[in-house]
Amino acid sequence: MQNKASTSAANKPNNLLKGATGEWEVIIGLEVHAQVASKAKLFSGASTTFGAEPNSNVSLVDAAMPGMLPAINGECVAQAVRTGLGLKAQINKRSIFDRKNYFYPDLPQGYQISQYKNPIVGEGTIEIDVDGVTKVIGIERLHLEQDAGKSIHDQHPDYSYVDLNRSGVALMEIVSRPDLRSAKEAQAYVTKLRTILRYLGTCDGDMEKGNMRADVNVSVRRPGAELGTRCEVKNVNSIRFIGQAVDYEARRQIDIIEDGGTIRQETRLFDNAKGETRSMRSKEEAHDYRYFPDPDLLPLEFDQAFIDGLQKGLPELPDEKKARFMAQYGLSAYDASVLVAEKESADYFERVAKGRDGKAAANWMINELFGRINKEGTTIATAPVSDVANNAIIGMISDGTISGAIAKKVFDIAWTTGRDPIEIVDTDGLKQVTDMGAIEKAVDAIITANPDKVEQVKLKPSMLGWFVGQAMKQSGGKANPQQVSDLLKAKLGI
Ligand code: MN
Repeated sequence: MQNKASTSAANKPNNLLKGATGEWEVIIGLEVHAQVASKAKLFSGASTTFGAEPNSNVSLVDAAMPGMLPAINGECVAQAVRTGLGLKAQINKRSIFDRKNYFYPDLPQGYQISQYKNPIVGEGTIEIDVDGVTKVIGIERLHLEQDAGKSIHDQHPDYSYVDLNRSGVALMEIVSRPDLRSAKEAQAYVTKLRTILRYLGTCDGDMEKGNMRADVNVSVRRPGAELGTRCEVKNVNSIRFIGQAVDYEARRQIDIIEDGGTIRQETRLFDNAKGETRSMRSKEEAHDYRYFPDPDLLPLEFDQAFIDGLQKGLPELPDEKKARFMAQYGLSAYDASVLVAEKESADYFERVAKGRDGKAAANWMINELFGRINKEGTTIATAPVSDVANNAIIGMISDGTISGAIAKKVFDIAWTTGRDPIEIVDTDGLKQVTDMGAIEKAVDAIITANPDKVEQVKLKPSMLGWFVGQAMKQSGGKANPQQVSDLLKAKLGI
């Protein structure tokens, strides 16, 4: 990534860190490697299936046998273009594959086929929301490249092994501008990027499997000063670790500078267990890799019709969906963003909200359903109360069949027994009591039993809630709270 500040508004100093000698601004840029969702590798027909026997998904091309020629996988190209469109980025109709030369035992070619000066996708943007503030983060580029194999050191005390299953798998390297200013913003950026990739279906975003990982570039400076020397923390593989890496690295650099030292540009690794970064090697420059166009591959070219075809097939993306949810269902920005964070939950919400009040459906989903899902460590797909069942419960609340309190009880019964909510309400006699005679009897009993409270409520009307609560309790939660309240007000003369 280039070491220059962006011109965007994102550059205003905020989120400053305190040091011993004053405040510091943290500058973060991310290079995210996202595995392209594709059955076959970038330049061979070998499978990309995760978890296969070591070295079982390896073609002669992936093993770099002499004389083998790479052949571009058109689906990977289409996925990169779709991703570029989803990031509202410049699509380059002509791009070039280059060889990035380095030696490593898990790289039998002795070079990685990547893109250097002419990537397939140019500048784009991602919007993030942090603490209620929306910020636009610049994307510098997206390029296609091959993954390397994997070295295995922990199987034998004397030997290391190489598994080439990953060798040649297509990656998209998505490079941000140095527009991020805090661990929180870096985490929000990666979360949003992952959401967009999942909506597009171009990467599954599974960080545990290494299908998405980030190189985190961090530097610090006095607010408004020139950019400082940055360090790159390689291959951070969870959102939580990205936050820890930023915080640790910023603090480390501030301490060095405040002690009179200088930052050495270097590549560092992140120790997951300790939450620390450690020096790996001094940072190599682009010229160390002796990039040159791969003579085995022609420039990658396509026309506008190819791009237009992919554009037409794009799904509704998270930002657009959020805007539509706010307009169509009257949701707050926060509720809408919670629901669109996963496409699955957004689709589920629309089924729950069908024929119902959108706000009520969103509240129900976020508080009751998500609350229970988090508590039980399950997912929407496997939750025992279905979309249809939740829709039915919300319907019964809005037409007055049950109260909100009873609805929670019905939800709990449905969750633990798998019974149908409408059947639960019928069979268990949970229908709201709207029989005024029965409600009046309960209200009268409470008034008679509490003469002191009756005196108090006349001076302090906020005490009415206590009477409503008692009446509701006596009815087993089945009385209509509005009717109870109205009746109490009439009887107490308030
Ligand atoms: Mn890369």
